[in-house]
Amino acid sequence: MTATNLLDFDLEGLAAFCEGLGEKRFRATQLFRWIHQRGASDFEQMSDLAKSLRGKLAGCATVTGLPVLTQQESTDGTIKWLFNVGNGDAVEAVFIPEEDRGTLCVSSQAGCAVGCRFCSTGHQGFSRNLSTGEIVAQLWFAEHFLRRHLGRDERVISNVVMMGMGEPLQNYGALVPALRTMLDDNAYGLSRRRVTVSTSGVVPMMDRLGADCPVALAVSLHAPNDALRDDLVPLNRKYPLAELMSACKRYLEPAPRDFITFEYCMLDGVNDQPEHARQLIELVRTSGVSCKFNLIPFNPFPASGLVRSPAPRVQAFARLLADAGIVTTVRKTRGDDIDAACGQLAGDVKDRTRAAERMAQRRTVMMRKVQTEPEHPTVGEAAR
Ligand code: SF4
Repeated sequence: MTATNLLDFDLEGLAAFCEGLGEKRFRATQLFRWIHQRGASDFEQMSDLAKSLRGKLAGCATVTGLPVLTQQESTDGTIKWLFNVGNGDAVEAVFIPEEDRGTLCVSSQAGCAVGCRFCSTGHQGFSRNLSTGEIVAQLWFAEHFLRRHLGRDERVISNVVMMGMGEPLQNYGALVPALRTMLDDNAYGLSRRRVTVSTSGVVPMMDRLGADCPVALAVSLHAPNDALRDDLVPLNRKYPLAELMSACKRYLEPAPRDFITFEYCMLDGVNDQPEHARQLIELVRTSGVSCKFNLIPFNPFPASGLVRSPAPRVQAFARLLADAGIVTTVRKTRGDDIDAACGQLAGDVKDRTRAAERMAQRRTVMMRKVQTEPEHPTVGEAAR
C-alpha cells in the first residue's frame, strides 16, 4: 500500500482521513498544526498525539516535501528554488523579501499549456498538473527553511502569489485545497487578500473560485483589444475581453471594496503605445471593473522574439493610466541575477504538448503575415 502524503490534504480532507483511521476530528487539527505551523514530518516528534495514532500514521502516511534540485540566492535577498517533481520535470518557487512583507511565488503546473508569447514557461510547453501536496510543499518547505535560515520563530512568508509556472485555474481541483491550507489559521493563517491567484482568464473557473475560495485575483491582461490579446495570450480566443471583463465584475460583486490587479507586460512596440493606454482606459471605464494596473518590464528571452519597452515609455504609459484615475504601479524587477524575475521561471519540463514547436510555428506565421500586411506595424516590430 502506498503511503498517503498528508501535504495533499486541507484540514477538511485531513479530518476525513483521520476519521477513516477511527480518530476524532480534533486529532486532525493537532496533526495539521504540527505539519504546517511547526514544519514537522516525523510523527514521533508530534508529542501531543496519542502513541497509538502515531503508530497508525507511521504505517499508512507520510509528510513528504519536494526534493530541492537547486537553490539560488540573489544579492537583493530573493531566493529561487528548483524542485524535482519527478519524471524529468522540475518547477520553481521564488521568495521575494521586502521591508513590510515576504512574498512567495508558487507554481501550479509543470509547464503551462496556455502558451503566452512573452512567457518562458509557456515556451517550455506543458507536462502535467501539480497535486495539492506539490503546491503546498513549496510553501511548507520555503516557510520552514526561511525560519531556520533567518533565525526567526515567527512566520516569514506573509503573502503567496500563484504566479509561478502554470495557469492555476487550469488545475482547479488541486488548487482550491492548497489555497484553503494557506488561509487556514491552523496552518499558515494568511488573509484572503494576501493570497493571490493569477490567471490568464479562464472565465468559468474565475466564477467557481469566487464562489469556493475568493482570494485576491490578478488577471494577466497584456493587451487592450482582442486582436492583440489573441496573439499574446492565446486563451483570449476562447474567452475574449468582453467575457473576461464581465467575469472580473462578477468576481468582485460579493466584495465591492476589492479590486482586480491587471498585469500588463510591457513589450517594445507591441502593446506600449499611447493608443494602447487609451484603449485600456476605455476598456476599464466601459466594463466598470475596480482595478489596479501593474506594469511589468518584460524579461527578454531569445525564443520570444520580443524586446523590453524602454523605461521612459513604461513611465509615460503609467502616467497616462494614472492621469485617468487608475492606480498604476511599475513592478520592480527582483532577482535579475538569478533569473527569478516574472516570466523567467522556466523550470525544466518534458514538453508533452509540443508547445515549443507550435510557438515557433506561430512566430513564423506571424512574421509572414507582417511581411504581407504592413498595416500591423506594432506586431511586426515585435516579431522581427
Ligand atoms: S503567462 Fe502564465 S498562463 Fe501564460 S504561458 Fe506563462 S505561465 Fe502560462
